[in-house]
Amino acid sequence: MSFSARLSHCECCPRHCGVNRLAGEAGFCRVPPGILISHAGLHFGEEPPLSGTRGSGTVFFAGCNLRCVFCQNYQISQEFENNPTRLLTVDELAALMLQLQDEGAHNINFVSPSHMVLQMADAIVLAKGKGLTIPVVYNSNGYDEVASLELIRGLVDIYLPDLKYLDNGLAKKLSAAGDYADVVPGVLREMLHQVGHLQVDGEGVATRGLLVRHLVLPGHLDNSRQCLRFLAELSPEICVSIMSQYSPQYQACRYPGIDRTLTEDEYDEIMGHALDLGLDNAFIQELASQDLLIPDFRQDKPFEAAAADEPCRSDQHILKKRKT
Ligand code: SF4
Repeated sequence: MSFSARLSHCECCPRHCGVNRLAGEAGFCRVPPGILISHAGLHFGEEPPLSGTRGSGTVFFAGCNLRCVFCQNYQISQEFENNPTRLLTVDELAALMLQLQDEGAHNINFVSPSHMVLQMADAIVLAKGKGLTIPVVYNSNGYDEVASLELIRGLVDIYLPDLKYLDNGLAKKLSAAGDYADVVPGVLREMLHQVGHLQVDGEGVATRGLLVRHLVLPGHLDNSRQCLRFLAELSPEICVSIMSQYSPQYQACRYPGIDRTLTEDEYDEIMGHALDLGLDNAFIQELASQDLLIPDFRQDKPFEAAAADEPCRSDQHILKKRKT
């Protein structure tokens, strides 16, 4: 039985809609059973171990199982029906993965896979059978179903989840997920259990493991402190990317408090807190990256459009690993 056969009663993410996507029923994510992608290509804007020198082979899925009011990818996550997408078969996605490998990608980086996890798994199996050897990255919002992660065990080499909130009230208000803080601890534990801590090769390129991203929201430093404390308790060795790139995109200007960028004092305070907690294995980001990272998915090259004068690269993120 294919993984996708389970879409006849879709419970592949924590929404547990139970709809028959194979028969055209739409759940919370509104995404059909086929593989709907918005963009694919080499991307240099990830953390250095993912972008490396040749780029990360990103595949951006359309749609999302969250409703983040500040989503910088809202064109493809929330408004995908009004923007360019491609509907692929499992064979076509597997071929795309092999094409990215041929183009030199260090990895295949599935962005927003939580609602597409089963179709993704079918394509990975097929691509591996046809010669895919580079690592597969699962780059999610953290609102994943643990049972789905258990199902795909062995198919993903690198987990790259967000830890957005450990405050259900905030998660409900900003992402329409009032149980996010209940779900995400189990997700991170399962991911760490499957792949362990981040490992890199002799050139510093990731080969396996877990890297957790946390985007610091302006005015919500208590949430950030809680998230970092949880990660330190999970394991002080955990690799974390503490991101300052927040900018008030999509509907954020309607929400007082997150209608501005982060201040340097706020970011410094959170970085200091991370170090106090012993989270030395951290990537940091300079505030200048706030202007560089907003993609425009209506363009053929969304990230070049974002950076205006220069393509967005990981060296412009100025992400640094504090300890190796
Ligand atoms: S993937 Fe979509 S349809 Fe399935 S449970 Fe999640 S939101 Fe519902």
